[in-house]
Amino acid sequence: RTVYVNGEYVPEAEAKVSVFDRAFLMADGVYEVTSVLGGRLIDFDGHAARLERSLGELGMGMPMSRDELLTIHRELVVRNDLTDGMIYLQVTRGAPGDRDFAFPPEGTPQTVVLFTQSKPGLADSPLAKQGIRVISIPDVRWGRRDIKTVQLLYPSMGKMMAKKAGADDAWMVEDGAVTEGTSNNAYIVKDGTIVTRNLGTEILHGITRAAVLRFAREAQMKVEERAFTIDEAKAADEAFITSASMFVMPVVEIDGDAVGSGAPGPVATRLREIYLEESRKVAV
Ligand code: PMP
Repeated sequence: RTVYVNGEYVPEAEAKVSVFDRAFLMADGVYEVTSVLGGRLIDFDGHAARLERSLGELGMGMPMSRDELLTIHRELVVRNDLTDGMIYLQVTRGAPGDRDFAFPPEGTPQTVVLFTQSKPGLADSPLAKQGIRVISIPDVRWGRRDIKTVQLLYPSMGKMMAKKAGADDAWMVEDGAVTEGTSNNAYIVKDGTIVTRNLGTEILHGITRAAVLRFAREAQMKVEERAFTIDEAKAADEAFITSASMFVMPVVEIDGDAVGSGAPGPVATRLREIYLEESRKVAV
């Protein structure tokens, strides 16, 4: 693979980042993952806007303009002959000369890294016909989950807890209510109404979430943005998750209990189709 590091396109084996990089030592960095379908970027503007917001919340600016970021994304698609997959982007507070809790001096260059991940047939994943199984785990992450930081240890542990339990992923629960999945937003459907956690500092403001809710409302589906419990989810007709790399993915089992019929439901299935169709139309 050819990757991008601080202004240069280099073979992945030659890419270098300092051991003092703030993301490496302090998780002081943010990231974005943008899907690529048919060589085109899905919802690039949404990801760029969230990147700017995440950086702003941490007192950082954008390392370059959105147009320049788009150019690098496109260049990586071309150089890696990427058809379907993802582009990972990370921006950190840079690498001062030593380890220090205090932020480095103004003007310390940020570290900017991008790389591609090829996933042929990403949109036709057989998993979407099958649905995934989730377990519930306590949400013990920090309180600013709206900032997309690289501090992913607990979500990573959650994924392993799920695997160990024979499931695919975990939904995190705080104060009795579901926040989100380890790397996705969580939804249930009851009597035709789509329910998903309201935006706040408790969850990541998913770019796919925003698009899917817009398409749902445009299709005259009812949407409620509010907290829901695991019991409510188990008693729902359907459940699903959304993320840039999974799009809309049905959830068919929660903590070993079947959701609805135990098969992907009509609402999740339709939303997946609408999402893929509409977002492909405006892909760049
Ligand atoms: N929540 C969390 C915790 C995530 O890590 C992600 C994926 N990065 C999402 C939700 C979904 O966000 P998006 O639709 O922008 O990929």
